[in-house]
Amino acid sequence: MDIQHSTDETLDADVIIVGGGVTGCAMATALADGKRKILILEARTGHKPRFAGELLHPTGTQVLDDLGFLPTLRKHGGVDVDGFAVVKSPTIPVTRLPYGEIERQRPTGFAMEHRDLVNGMREWTEKQPGVRFLFNEKVEEVMRNAQGRVCGVRTAQKVLRANLVLGCDGRHSKIRPLLGLSEEARLLSFSVAMRFPDGAKHLPCPTFGHIFLGAWGPMLIYPIGGHNGSRDARGCFDVTRELSGGPKGASELIRREYAPHLPPPLAKALLESLDREPPQIAANEAIRTAKAVLPGAAIVGDAGGCAHPLTAAGMTVCFTDAQRIGKLLASAGNFSNAAQVDAALRRYEIERYRFVRVRELLADALYEVFRGAEPGTRAIREGIFRYWEGSKTARARSMALLSGANSNPGVFLREYLTVVGNSTTAVIAGETGPVRGESATMRERLDSFVGLGQKSWEKARMVLRDVRQELARASA
Ligand SMILES: Cc1cc2nc3c(=O)[nH]c(=O)nc-3n(C[C@H](O)[C@H](O)[C@H](O)COP(=O)(O)OP(=O)(O)OC[C@H]3O[C@@H](n4cnc5c(N)ncnc54)[C@H](O)[C@@H]3O)c2cc1C
Repeated sequence: MDIQHSTDETLDADVIIVGGGVTGCAMATALADGKRKILILEARTGHKPRFAGELLHPTGTQVLDDLGFLPTLRKHGGVDVDGFAVVKSPTIPVTRLPYGEIERQRPTGFAMEHRDLVNGMREWTEKQPGVRFLFNEKVEEVMRNAQGRVCGVRTAQKVLRANLVLGCDGRHSKIRPLLGLSEEARLLSFSVAMRFPDGAKHLPCPTFGHIFLGAWGPMLIYPIGGHNGSRDARGCFDVTRELSGGPKGASELIRREYAPHLPPPLAKALLESLDREPPQIAANEAIRTAKAVLPGAAIVGDAGGCAHPLTAAGMTVCFTDAQRIGKLLASAGNFSNAAQVDAALRRYEIERYRFVRVRELLADALYEVFRGAEPGTRAIREGIFRYWEGSKTARARSMALLSGANSNPGVFLREYLTVVGNSTTAVIAGETGPVRGESATMRERLDSFVGLGQKSWEKARMVLRDVRQELARASA
């Protein structure tokens, strides 16, 4: 629908933010300067409980701190997290990857239950001057003026106009196709999630996020705090996309094929949780976009794409996106200068994809390695443990990539190839049999060598593709 260019008097807000989830809240707070009129349109009425992001790296946590969210979130039960711990099997010592080993970076991440996180973020955002929420307002159309510039949205009830529209409406964004921005989407697997009341004490390192290996897919278990000082934990189990039977089928699968790979106290907490309530199920998707802005509009956070949640990088991308736009538009007043706004949005697009591409590469590579479904990736899994156990510098480099402190694709490739080098040593030592602990046969070693070569070539090609695309974008 075309509408005429709006004058300031006809505007409903300076900026319309579509979606009042974690990204929408961070976005509004990052733009709130006391003078701007900021309208958040949220499709739902309340916050329907659903399982989504809870574990946040230091880079994302720092943004929440900068924007003033943390005291409110702590009040809602959020807790600090000190790093990651990877557990190959209950009988092998834990490999710890503390955030504190990364230089010049906040030493802690943060975690809390997703519903509490959204509620806490909304509570703080509503207090920001000039910010207004409208619930039960599902955006159905994007409005453009005679010049084709985005100038508002239409919901079922009303047409609303603004100088700028920001789509913060999640991975299944409606704004993305309405703006004509394309995506590549793949369903990877499902996450089956449950809560362990007061369960953090059963974790080998109670203030760390844990990745347990040994089952079909990795098992992520981390503290999420809780109310009245309780230290709950969340279990998030990666299962095949062929999962059938809904929550009951998922529950049986987890009991049978995942619980035996956990240390006994955690396995017990898991079984008790499954006895108490059915697990929640969420799809794990990889959604890749190549463009995030148009004149007068941008997509932000998951609307711009997402990766497998194993690396817990989703919200770090959401919050850095929001902070980046906030800074780039800091001097843009009420966004009435279209040329200034569009130049800032183009800069946002360049900077966001530089940050996002390494997160996507890493999520893809670590998921493959921790699943270890093929000889090459099984070999890399052995190599990565050797690498991390070898030195603090190695751990810090990996964690800098994981946590968002480093976004250099060259560093990712160098690290990957270093791990492949360690993996080759593991193959020579015969440590990469199909069942860990068993020696590999000659045939398996040969398959591992071939797989290592294939994986290295594949990752080098992916890095080259991304670097080429980002250079082209920057010089356009
Ligand atoms: C299983 C799973 C586990 C995850 N674990 C982690 C983790 O540990 N750490 C991490 O950092 N990330 C994790 N993530 C990713 C994280 O959940 C997302 O990055 C984050 O929730 C995205 O927030 P968002 O606000 O962009 O989107 P959403 O959370 O999807 O919110 C979008 C909002 O927009 C509203 N909306 C949608 N359409 C419209 C419309 N047309 N009009 C108006 N409003 C609309 C929705 O109602 C919703 O409130 C996980 C994701 C999954 C699926």
